[in-house]
Amino acid sequence: MSILNKNIFILTGAGISKESGINTFREEDGLWDNYKIEDVCTPNAFKRNPDLVNNFYNERKSQLESPQIKPNEAHLSLAEFERNCSGEFLIVTQNIDNLHERAGSKKILHMHGSLESAYCMYCNQKVILNFNLSTSYQCKNCLNKGMVRVDVVWFGEQPKYLEEIYNFLEKTEVFISIGTSNNVYPAAGFIDFLNQLNKKISMYEFNLEKTIKTAQFDQTYFGPATKTIPKFVENLIKDL
Ligand code: NAD
Repeated sequence: MSILNKNIFILTGAGISKESGINTFREEDGLWDNYKIEDVCTPNAFKRNPDLVNNFYNERKSQLESPQIKPNEAHLSLAEFERNCSGEFLIVTQNIDNLHERAGSKKILHMHGSLESAYCMYCNQKVILNFNLSTSYQCKNCLNKGMVRVDVVWFGEQPKYLEEIYNFLEKTEVFISIGTSNNVYPAAGFIDFLNQLNKKISMYEFNLEKTIKTAQFDQTYFGPATKTIPKFVENLIKDL
């Protein structure tokens, strides 16, 4: 029976963007080989060395804007999936890149923020991030210098949209996890939350390898997301 008329929750992580050329965090060649989490992804790191943190995110942003970085077949297939769904559909991504949007997906929540915006820590004014982050940048609203930071969620900070996410989880009938190591909470706990609801929910995982949550899924598809996701979506649509 097709799942296209069900309420579908898709959780994506760094693995879905890997084949677009954006490194994951934890694998070999991952970002953490060149940077330490505590140096670039915490509020204290920003206090200690704002230039290092700003430069880290300026690099991420300019990489994302380079012509060779594009949505891959997995991102494109998820957009196709959404277009064919008659139930409710939501992508919750841990990624800070904009590849789901560029692939044509519509309902996306960036629970760890995004490289598309920045905000002033003094007056909270949000701005489109179309400039280089720097300690000499002046907030256009309150005129303070050096207070504007990237709008991503750092370790120790509260992820975004949690109320919306948990409301959707309550009505989720199909849960699909793609390219996440399931190491970072609360995202890693979504499957535990669903299991506690004691409802029949179909759960699928897509990854290169087993994760610490694999045993909780009904089915895991091993392989690169650009191969496994298009095949999965194609089969769903074919069965319509
Ligand atoms: P992670 O680095 O912890 O894990 C990546 C997972 O993806 C691994 O389990 C790996 O086996 C799998 N994977 C790698 N290549 C794959 C492929 N081609 N197909 C399928 N699976 C593949 O990443 P995570 O779980 O998203 O962890 C957390 C943090 O990393 C998040 O906070 C996120 O904000 C951040 N992050 C984001 C980006 C991005 O925006 N693209 C990049 C790096 C890290």
